[in-house]
Amino acid sequence: AVSAGIVGLPNVGKSTLFNALTQAGAAAENFPFCTIDPNVGVVPVPDPRLDVLAEMFRSREKIPATVRFVDIAGLVAGASKGEGLGNRFLAHIREVEAIVHVVRAFEDPGVVHVAGRVDPARDIEIVNTELLLADLETVERRLERVGKRARVGEEAAHKEAACLEELAAHLGEGRPARMWKPEECADLLAELHLLTAKPVLYVANVSEAMLAENPEDHPLVRAVRARADEEGAEVVVLSAALEAELQSLPPEERREFLQAYGLPAPGLDRLIAAAYRLLRQITFFTAGEKEARAWTIREGTKAPQAGGVIHSDFERGFIRAEVVAYADLVRAGSMEEARRKGLVRLEGRDYVVQDGDVILFRFHV
Ligand code: GDP
Repeated sequence: AVSAGIVGLPNVGKSTLFNALTQAGAAAENFPFCTIDPNVGVVPVPDPRLDVLAEMFRSREKIPATVRFVDIAGLVAGASKGEGLGNRFLAHIREVEAIVHVVRAFEDPGVVHVAGRVDPARDIEIVNTELLLADLETVERRLERVGKRARVGEEAAHKEAACLEELAAHLGEGRPARMWKPEECADLLAELHLLTAKPVLYVANVSEAMLAENPEDHPLVRAVRARADEEGAEVVVLSAALEAELQSLPPEERREFLQAYGLPAPGLDRLIAAAYRLLRQITFFTAGEKEARAWTIREGTKAPQAGGVIHSDFERGFIRAEVVAYADLVRAGSMEEARRKGLVRLEGRDYVVQDGDVILFRFHV
């Protein structure tokens, strides 16, 4: 499964947020997974479409899609030089597919800031610089090796060295690898597994008091937003402490708690949905009396491979898929009606599954 890693400076609210996420996971009904590792949380993706389908099919069970969050603690300035737990920290980031960068945007004299005072732009810079330096080292090491081969006249090595030099210059200007996109170097870039090539979103962790006003107008949130805009990244504004408190309440008390803060829904829901998009995951559904279930695939997955996520027989023995778009099914009101209206399509091996497809797989064993 794909994972998003939670990173940020110490004392910004990472573990508070991670705990809220894992509580949300642990509380999910019919939860098909268990905790594998104390730093890994498997969290259900809130999706009202699943509730609608479960009702329509009178399903006995409802199984949501999930996303994995990994709590990656231990970043300090100097991590790329191996300070503190620096190296281990960087190794953990290498293993995730996307980065959730938590930034402190709450003032609280009771919580010490590692760099003395709350300054989101500087904090983001500290974290990103460590990642950039680590990448620069990766690129330079590779360049050393390739450079030797290029000098003895190897054509491919020559091309690669040119790419690496350009990339090193780009990183050297303080710009992440995800913003570097020359086509002729795309394969190389994928191979390097650079930290700053991973997609990122920022969490502005605000205080409970800030939530009650308009947090978007707060200078600390604006500072996060300005920095994120530079690289076209999303920002999720929430209060980690409040989210943790919310998750610790019995479900029937949560609505009232949210209302007291004037919040339409938990901030975690927005974060989970944003992380899911960031990981380029989409959802298709299967539904029947036994269960309504949301399945996760990567954008661009074809029907047989989507079936393979459910069971290897579905992929191996794939015949065809009966597909109806969620919106069409809801408009028709039932599967029978959707069929009558010709909204249920028969799709073959080359069909690229779309977000929201409700699918019945036909296969032989
Ligand atoms: P980490 O080092 O980034 O994992 O940070 P923690 O989650 O341990 O949080 C550090 C301190 O900040 C703790 O005392 C938290 O209670 C506090 N904290 C975290 N989130 C919030 C928040 O949203 N509001 C306030 N007021 N305090 C928070």
